[in-house]
Amino acid sequence: MKNVYLDNAATTKISPEVFEAMRPYLQTNYGNASSIHNLGQKSREAVDKAREQLALFLNCQPSEIIFTGSATEADNLAVLGFLGHIITTQIEHPAVLETCRYLEKQGVEITYLPVSKDGLIKVEDVEKAIKPNTSLVSIVYANNEIGTIQPIVEIGKFLQTINYKLLTKIIFHTDAVQAANYLSCDVQKLNVDLLTLSAHKIYGPKGVGALYIRKGVKIKPIAFGGHQEYGLRAGTENVAGIVGFGAAIAAISNLKSTILNLKSLRDKSIDGVLSKIPNSALNGSRESRLPNNANFSFAGVEGEAVVIALDQAGVCASTGSACSSGSLDPSYVLKAIGLTNEQAHGSLRLTLGKYTTEKEIDYVLRVLPEIVANLRKISGFKQ
Ligand code: PLP
Repeated sequence: MKNVYLDNAATTKISPEVFEAMRPYLQTNYGNASSIHNLGQKSREAVDKAREQLALFLNCQPSEIIFTGSATEADNLAVLGFLGHIITTQIEHPAVLETCRYLEKQGVEITYLPVSKDGLIKVEDVEKAIKPNTSLVSIVYANNEIGTIQPIVEIGKFLQTINYKLLTKIIFHTDAVQAANYLSCDVQKLNVDLLTLSAHKIYGPKGVGALYIRKGVKIKPIAFGGHQEYGLRAGTENVAGIVGFGAAIAAISNLKSTILNLKSLRDKSIDGVLSKIPNSALNGSRESRLPNNANFSFAGVEGEAVVIALDQAGVCASTGSACSSGSLDPSYVLKAIGLTNEQAHGSLRLTLGKYTTEKEIDYVLRVLPEIVANLRKISGFKQ
């Protein structure tokens, strides 16, 4: 079998309706959305429409959405500029984690909350971490490596209560990049003030992100030299990309019916791997988990070797570890849930998507046990 794509957490295939929606803005309607002539006006209208599509999805006003060049940029925009104490987690995406580390070096106090062995944050831990000068709480909605879903609604409710009681305004940010396909991102129900999205994780184009900013929340721009996006994101808008983002968001509601199917395919892959491969384990919560994520550790093998062998067998997967960035450090997410270096090095992430079929999962379950067994022979691992 060729090109079994099980790396949907890394990026997704652009869907045909998204591609078709974008096409005119790449070929004929190429105007700059800031130009006053008719081509410019067409681009402006298209950007406005996409903003409305995102607003409908998030249950907010269009004016509360800022388009950016990526979710990484949106996360940076959300976090930079807060100078009081910040609470975040040990398992954030680097876009938040590294930004917090940068602020820490500038003297900002940061609390990195630990997670349980299932990869979950406790609301009590957020409560205990609050200080009189806490300005921001930033917690990822669903983790990109192990797919665990955090109790964002509960944390949002708690922060609302504490803000009311203490007459404070602690801002709540969530990175919903991995969650958007599967979980409600209604910002009123979540009680969040800032929320990050990425187009290319939802069958849209790469290079477009968005930040929801609740009306009244003060955010400092991180790029200067243009009036675009209410002065918060200077630079000519990526009109075709933004149009694709809008179309991808609008298609998400149609996806709900596929979630049950995805869950059953995911469970088939989890049960199949755990039963067919001895000395294997599932990383992250089994229950509070995205319907498309399976993350395993195999004793006695390197995750990278499994990924390369799977690739040779036509399967695109990932280790989900930091090694892909050129570092040989084991995944900090897997370390945070208590894995040893060796367990973290032997990890494999399979992330399914709307195009994944049962036949493909059956194929992976046929080839993977042999791959792991062969690698274990080479490494001299005794079962
Ligand atoms: N946040 C999370 C949770 C992610 O999984 C990713 C992508 O891997 C990002 C942020 C960054 O998204 P982008 O590729 O749009 O910068």
